[in-house]
Amino acid sequence: MLIAFDIDDTLGCCFSASLAYFNKCFNKNYFPEEVAEWVNSHFDCEHDFFSQLYNIRCEDVTKIFVERSHEILTEMPVFPLALIEVKRLVSEGHKPVYITARDSRWKGITSNWLMSANFPHGALYFTREKANLALELGVDLFYEDSVHNIRSLRKVGVNCILVDAFPNWGWNNEKYSVPRVHWNPLLSNFLSVKS
Ligand SMILES: [Mg+2]
Repeated sequence: MLIAFDIDDTLGCCFSASLAYFNKCFNKNYFPEEVAEWVNSHFDCEHDFFSQLYNIRCEDVTKIFVERSHEILTEMPVFPLALIEVKRLVSEGHKPVYITARDSRWKGITSNWLMSANFPHGALYFTREKANLALELGVDLFYEDSVHNIRSLRKVGVNCILVDAFPNWGWNNEKYSVPRVHWNPLLSNFLSVKS
């Protein structure tokens, strides 16, 4: 099978680095633990995460992500269980492809990140039109954390696995029949505190 992997918050933890960056931009001081509480009480997973948390427009969130700093992307921690999963799938004969909505100006940083984290070699694509590209490439399965992307991928018939993340926490995915995987240590810590 041709298996596609999103990168941010699917293979590595972009969330905590982004939170620090947004805090800096909007002069706030939110910690992941506080955000976890906020997710439980206030967050509407049908709408953009950072625009709700910081009470800003979605366009401003996009602008920040497009322009975000070199540091966020280079220092993004790898999810160890994601790395194990990609390697396992490749060892079973599946072919990986990496599809990110990052701006293509981060191509060098992104391919270096994948390589230094030891992810198996695969083609790397930069697009916001993930569903169209997945169809074009003949992707059989797509690992993704974004509810919005999962919806558009399912709409064109691409099978997906939803990677648990704060921004998709609470999303009722049953009507889309999308299995979930859980390998985000930040979220695991939060859940173990709650239980
Ligand atoms: Mg993502």
